[in-house]
Amino acid sequence: MGFSPPEPLLTFHDLGKTPNIRHATTTGLESAGKKQLNPTVPELIESTQARLRTIDILGKIETDPIACELAVIGNGMAGMASALFAANRGLPTVQVGAPGGIIFASGLLDLLGVHPAEERKVWQDPWAGIEALTQDFPKHPYALLERKEIEAAFNELLSFLEGENLHYQRREGQNSEMILPLGTTKQTYCVPKSMWGGIKALKERHSCLLVDFHGLSDFSATQITETLKDRWPDLRSARITFPGNDQIRELFTGELMAQAMESSENREKLAQAVRPLVGDAHSIGMPAVFGMNRTGEILAELEKQIGVPIFEIPTLPVSIPGLRLNDTIARGLTGKGVRRFSQERVLKVHREPGGDFTLDIGNKRVGKTVRAKGVILASGRFWGRGLIADRKRIREAIFDLPVHQPEGRKGWHHKDFLDLRGHPVNRAGLEIDDLFRPLDSSGDPAFERLFAAGSILAHQDWMRMKCGSGLAISSAYAAVKAFCI
Ligand SMILES: Cc1cc2nc3c(=O)[nH]c(=O)nc-3n(C[C@H](O)[C@H](O)[C@H](O)COP(=O)(O)OP(=O)(O)OC[C@H]3O[C@@H](n4cnc5c(N)ncnc54)[C@H](O)[C@@H]3O)c2cc1C
Repeated sequence: MGFSPPEPLLTFHDLGKTPNIRHATTTGLESAGKKQLNPTVPELIESTQARLRTIDILGKIETDPIACELAVIGNGMAGMASALFAANRGLPTVQVGAPGGIIFASGLLDLLGVHPAEERKVWQDPWAGIEALTQDFPKHPYALLERKEIEAAFNELLSFLEGENLHYQRREGQNSEMILPLGTTKQTYCVPKSMWGGIKALKERHSCLLVDFHGLSDFSATQITETLKDRWPDLRSARITFPGNDQIRELFTGELMAQAMESSENREKLAQAVRPLVGDAHSIGMPAVFGMNRTGEILAELEKQIGVPIFEIPTLPVSIPGLRLNDTIARGLTGKGVRRFSQERVLKVHREPGGDFTLDIGNKRVGKTVRAKGVILASGRFWGRGLIADRKRIREAIFDLPVHQPEGRKGWHHKDFLDLRGHPVNRAGLEIDDLFRPLDSSGDPAFERLFAAGSILAHQDWMRMKCGSGLAISSAYAAVKAFCI
């Protein structure tokens, strides 16, 4: 069978024995980042009701173990992308894991921005960058991927997001220079459409106003203008009162601000405060707080009221664009019938005769079991707890797979914390074959139908190379493709 995007249903595996879980809905708590992070009483009640509805819908088909074709371990970008690519191919899929790095990320999707990291060489053409990178690091996971596969992976994800009303923009085949919350910039591949005006403004250096809010401690328009003033003399800043914050209490960019911007009364107040400041500005940049779901509409309405284009600038973590991305993918996956457990973890995996896997999932205690023909391990590194560092060695947490790592703990870090080469520990991870299967200690695939994707892979330092999402999305694509063979 070929591996092409949305021709759903049918894999090489026997679907006949698998209960039809494609129309299962969310268990409620898993559906929105906000609910996972800090559920209020009404949210908990709502999620309980949602769970009851789920039980209703699942009714007779909820079995123990829950049977599926593919189990995805991880809820970060690699896990989300794996679940999406699997669902698009009609594979009954279960996804398990607490929220991953997406909710802390800025919503930008990097492909490759920097290489070599120690020279801080930035790439406008990410494909040329990847070529240079894979020559220098032939074991980097990008070396196992063709350009057309990486492009196909991005196209499939972006068109899914588009269908879910979250719009991204990019330059064909090129990176774009993006303003970051502290006034530095970076080359990135895809940005939320709400931020695209900032890329244009920075490129043209046109007269531009950045606006922030009294009491907002984690975003400063003045800091950004000060950092960029040598390159961009026509950039200026102003501060206004956020609608409803007349007492100037401390504000944090977060859901409350985003929700406030969903009220048309608040938008009117904001527009009134900004209008007198516009002057000769061709565009206005503000922190990314313009709603959780309807950002395009909210910005369009404000632009009409204020009279110039408005763009969002990412804020420090936890950022609204990260939450928007996480929630949008989670909602869309549920809509595609992916059975998601985003409050649970995989506690143990058992290998069944014949090669299937049984996963015990729960929190401290096993709550459910999942039986799967294949598993994609997208459990991240130390932060996600896919890798665990003890006093002597770095371990893979679920299967105890061999981890490529420096000899001995002393080799984990260079002496200087800010060493431009980065630290060897950040290239630790799983070695894989060309089907993205983790290897055992003799260099063979550890299991025939166990695949790995994302930051758990060895020989890459996504944070320094600026390739986090690109690596996660494209390795997920390759892993699902390999499972379908
Ligand atoms: C602060 C921050 C900023 C970022 N900024 C950007 C950016 O600007 N551009 C960009 O492209 N990327 C960015 N990223 C990176 C990106 O969001 C991803 O984090 C990265 O690509 C790695 O994704 P991952 O899915 O491999 O791992 P993670 O995001 O770490 O996810 C690992 C997942 O595995 C789960 N897990 C671990 N163990 C288990 C278990 N036993 N059972 C079930 N689940 C388990 C975890 O709960 C988690 O859901 C940023 C990340 C962070 C943290």
